[in-house]
Amino acid sequence: MAGKKRYGRNAKKRRKIKLAIRIGLVVLLVLGAIGIRNLIVKHKEARIVGKMQGVEVPDFVEPAILDEKANSRSGKQLEAVRGIVVHYVANPGTSAMQNRDYFAGEETVVNAHFVVGLEGEIVQCIPLNEQSVASNWRNADTISIEVCHPDETGQFNEKTMAALTRLTVWLLEECKLKPEDVIRHYDVTGKMCPLYYVEHPEAWEAFIDSLGEAMKK
Ligand SMILES: [Zn+2]
Repeated sequence: MAGKKRYGRNAKKRRKIKLAIRIGLVVLLVLGAIGIRNLIVKHKEARIVGKMQGVEVPDFVEPAILDEKANSRSGKQLEAVRGIVVHYVANPGTSAMQNRDYFAGEETVVNAHFVVGLEGEIVQCIPLNEQSVASNWRNADTISIEVCHPDETGQFNEKTMAALTRLTVWLLEECKLKPEDVIRHYDVTGKMCPLYYVEHPEAWEAFIDSLGEAMKK
């Protein structure tokens, strides 16, 4: 009887060990799969940042890159491009170039990759692989666009909206992103920026929908 009992106990022990090994293997496999997936994502992200370094902006963008020594240049390389952040300049009636020149000022410590103006002009202020200083903790993984507006409401005019759409669609395609990856500064920090599109979420939704439509073409 005693021997049988011991045999039973050993068999139980062996089953427990086998089960532990199986669980261990499954855990290792899952961790391995997650590791590989992360590596692939990191590789893709690095490739997109690398590509942004050499990408040629379309004709509708006027490059006016800030001096390398400008106070507002972070000089930091983007870690990834996971989104596009839209801002409003909060200075009614100013042009894209005026805002770009403001970024160039000695006292200024903010900037953006692009400014879209009242006539539909688009000015590029910093290289596309560099971090802007616009969107707080999302500077490291987003492209930022400042948008001009005619009055205090912060609503973009028709020409500005058309240019913003054109620029954003180009960026989404270059960076392999979706319209939902376009966010407001408000979505990062809760700041009332871009003002009109925080106060009128339906106008923001309509903009995001229009990007989807434009991308299908
Ligand atoms: Zn903002």
